[in-house]
Amino acid sequence: MRVRLPLLVPSLSKDNPVEHRTLVLTNWFFPYQILSWQDAVTQIYTGDATVVAEYDDELRGASVIWKYPAVVRLTSKFKPKRKTKFSRFNVFTRDRFTCQYCFQRKRMSELTYDHMVPRKRGGQTKWDNIVTACKPCNSLKGSKTCDEAGMFPRVLPVRPKSLPLVSPVRDLSRAPAEWHDFVRPYLPAYA
Ligand SMILES: [Zn+2]
Repeated sequence: MRVRLPLLVPSLSKDNPVEHRTLVLTNWFFPYQILSWQDAVTQIYTGDATVVAEYDDELRGASVIWKYPAVVRLTSKFKPKRKTKFSRFNVFTRDRFTCQYCFQRKRMSELTYDHMVPRKRGGQTKWDNIVTACKPCNSLKGSKTCDEAGMFPRVLPVRPKSLPLVSPVRDLSRAPAEWHDFVRPYLPAYA
């Protein structure tokens, strides 16, 4: 479908750079991709996305004044096709780099993953049997089941909705301030 956009002309100045990029979130607020503001505006016009946060700078059209979209969220029309691959990093991301037993957010190097049903007892290395654990909690639980150890994860693990789970933003210091609240939960502590 071709969509005609109103002509939006960024007023150029030193304080008003045109390279504003837009962070796109999934319908469930997962950081999904980074687009040019032009592409993000197209998504808003086609109804594929809604604005979540704006930059202060304005875009001027003949009859409209917009602010550059800083963060948009895809509407429920959006259906991801790829399945989420199982990986250590994706498990940590799903669990927001938080030990599911003591609920502390940690650095990557302080985390490991725990088999809820231990491998020796037939537990598999799959999305629904693996949770993020800090090393002390992991060794405390040892080769016991959750029942035996009396340790239960905060959230029962599931395969995340099919998506590449890695956030497109890996370094908060390079991201615009408007993105931080949406990206921070998916980065390791101290990142
Ligand atoms: Zn822990």
